[in-house]
Amino acid sequence: MKLCILGSTGSIGTQALQSAENLGIRVGALAAGSNYRLLEEQCRRFGAERAYIGERYYSHLKTALADTATKVVTGEDALDTFGADTDCDTVLNALTGIRGLRPTVHTLRAGKTLALANKETLVAGGSVVMPLAEKGILPVDSEHSAIFQCIQGQVRPKKLILTASGGPFFGKDRAFLEKVTPADALKHPNWSMGSKVTIDSATMMNKGLELIEAMHLFGVSEDKIEVIIHRESIIHSMVVMEDNAVIGQMGVPDMRLCIQYALTYPERYPSLSEELDLARVGTLSFYAPDGDSFPLLPLARYAARRGGTAPAVMNGANEAAVELFLQGRLSFTGISDVVIKVTTEHTPLCDPDIEQIETADREARDRVLQLAQTM
Ligand code: MG
Repeated sequence: MKLCILGSTGSIGTQALQSAENLGIRVGALAAGSNYRLLEEQCRRFGAERAYIGERYYSHLKTALADTATKVVTGEDALDTFGADTDCDTVLNALTGIRGLRPTVHTLRAGKTLALANKETLVAGGSVVMPLAEKGILPVDSEHSAIFQCIQGQVRPKKLILTASGGPFFGKDRAFLEKVTPADALKHPNWSMGSKVTIDSATMMNKGLELIEAMHLFGVSEDKIEVIIHRESIIHSMVVMEDNAVIGQMGVPDMRLCIQYALTYPERYPSLSEELDLARVGTLSFYAPDGDSFPLLPLARYAARRGGTAPAVMNGANEAAVELFLQGRLSFTGISDVVIKVTTEHTPLCDPDIEQIETADREARDRVLQLAQTM
């Protein structure tokens, strides 16, 4: 196997490289947006043949790698086809946000194996992406990896149960949430992740996005997916079979297991993830989600039922709102306020193509900026 990683300097990318090194997987190509210093180090360590970096940092990386055989490329279009154009057989898409959609499409069109950590790809563009995925998509998101592991060799499950940690503000009410700062929201109790997904976990939008991601990956409707708060993040998700047998996947919260399984599927090898010690964990607790304090999860169900461009609009609005929140220009509860407004005022377009999805995304972002100015 020869691996290409899109987003190699992020949380998923760096952990994927640890797994690759541990298993002796060859790494042929690495792409990052801005962290050229780390990308240089990664290219040297793994002897990557090709590297992609965002335009602003192109000359820095090119100079830094001048004494190596690594070919450095840049440009928006170059990122779209970067994985597809290499001789790597597997592409791990660990980009953040809608930016990952076109690279996903090109990777699948090129007939490569796709390990997907970019959930926004499926939320916004699932209807365009899934028909291209003849060989299927290997999920990296821990919940979807868990479900994928649970249904191997099984008949279609009756229901999926996505577990959610509840994030740092579990049990809090709206009055509390109004005063939350970016620093508060960036402290996730169980998982160490990038800032976008950490804020999404705090608002519960992450579970909403994952619900739509699961609909596409496993071909189930919104009403067949239950969400349960599970504070310890030990059960990573479950499936309910026709006879009501419930099968779950357990482990310590460590993304390296999910990443590795996507890379080695259907084989299993020793991983860098620690063994689970249930006596030390002690108790596993479960609660129903609170849709009043965290209204973005019910919103995702609404967007999923509306279909068409509705999930893309919700996703685009959320990406823009999270950015504004991190910049201190929108309050924590402001995120859900604007995302709900933009999503519910949108009239979805049925069966959109990729351009229409991207237009819906752009319009949703513009509308968020407009609304945020009046808040
Ligand atoms: Mg997840």
